[in-house]
Amino acid sequence: MSLATHLLCDDCNTVTALTTLVNLCPVCGGLLEVQYDLAGASPNLASHAAANRQQGMWRWRDLLPLPEGATEVSLGEGDTPLMAMEELGARLGIPGLLVKNDGLMPTGSFKDRGFALAVSFARGLGAERGFTYSSGNAGASFAAYCSRAGLDATVFVEAAANDTKVAMISMYGAAVYRLHYDSSAEIFDALDALARAGQHSFVNFVNPIRHEAMKVYAYEICEALDWAVPDVMVHPVGTGGGLWGAWKGFNELRSLGLIDRVPRMVGVQPAVCAPLVDAYENGREATVRTGDASATMAQSIAGDDMIHGGRRILRAIRESGGRAVAVTEEEIAEAMTLLGSAAVAAEPSAAVSVAALLNGREAGWLAEHDTVVAVITGTALKQPGAVLKVARPPRGDVRADAAEWTRIIGAPVFAAPAIHSATSPR
Ligand SMILES: *Cc1c(COP(=O)(O)O)cnc(C)c1O
Ligand SMILES: [Zn+2]
Repeated sequence: MSLATHLLCDDCNTVTALTTLVNLCPVCGGLLEVQYDLAGASPNLASHAAANRQQGMWRWRDLLPLPEGATEVSLGEGDTPLMAMEELGARLGIPGLLVKNDGLMPTGSFKDRGFALAVSFARGLGAERGFTYSSGNAGASFAAYCSRAGLDATVFVEAAANDTKVAMISMYGAAVYRLHYDSSAEIFDALDALARAGQHSFVNFVNPIRHEAMKVYAYEICEALDWAVPDVMVHPVGTGGGLWGAWKGFNELRSLGLIDRVPRMVGVQPAVCAPLVDAYENGREATVRTGDASATMAQSIAGDDMIHGGRRILRAIRESGGRAVAVTEEEIAEAMTLLGSAAVAAEPSAAVSVAALLNGREAGWLAEHDTVVAVITGTALKQPGAVLKVARPPRGDVRADAAEWTRIIGAPVFAAPAIHSATSPR
């Protein structure tokens, strides 16, 4: 029950009820402020706050690896919203559509769960520095968690990353270098050589801890659904760490007896560079080099090959009865626009989760009764250039003119009380 009681005017103390639409004080035109009956309710509030559990990823600490005595490095990651998307779902023929919005993570992408855990783990074992290569978001996340933990971070960021992403890595305090290469294979070879030489890598799978944190997807989603299981989980795939971690989490929940089945895992890549889809469709156990990573705006998942041939990811989607889906640049732009209209700001690599659903019913791998979780892995703010490309420009230019604004806005929505005094302070 709301403890709010009334609106009070700053200037003349007039009380206005909360039961009708109003903007300014009806007596003097002053600013109104909501008042509460806090005194009677305070014991209630205190006990409610005390009963609240810790929020975020570390609620699941018992199911995550952390060395004895290690402390958690946290920026408030996890417990992102799982939102029912009735209108968007109806439009796509899947009314049970849900969006897990990881664009709301501390550094704006789903990478934060992984780095919270991997950096905590490494520091707990005495690491003082580490490195990662990154398409942009991983570098920012790694840099932020290293700053928080007091580790020195070096980031090799793909030269194709936009200036904002690169600058964010620097702003979080890491040493950043632009990475140039012709094929992803060159990066994998370098990673392999460094790992064998004892350099501490924070790259998915080369680092065995990072993707573990992605299990928490499964925990959060099933908990929010009161331990029901979605039929389908859709995730963008770069290295596949996100999809693989989620898959592991769902299987653990099944082993724990909390759920009785697992979702069909759907991995999504841009059609112009889709090594996973290529291997999936051709029945191979590993990816081969294919496509042009520079030809997509989904830069966070653009690669012409996958670490260790994407074998784990192919296994997860096949064992789960899921699939790998390629989406066109037009579908990615359309998904960004649809998501925006549904109040979710996704960067292109995140919007592919919804782009994959555009034709799912038609293609026959989605049914009307399916509960589908589409993960939004990063916020649109990370890629301002893509926002400028897909968003409708402003509809015109105006002056501060009440008559002109009224023509644009339309008819008034409440019967405005005649304000008695015209001397309200600005
Ligand atoms: C890194 C990234 C991905 C790909 O994640 P993987 O775990 O490497 O598959 C997808 N979307 C966004 C926004 C990312 O930053
Ligand atoms: Zn081995």
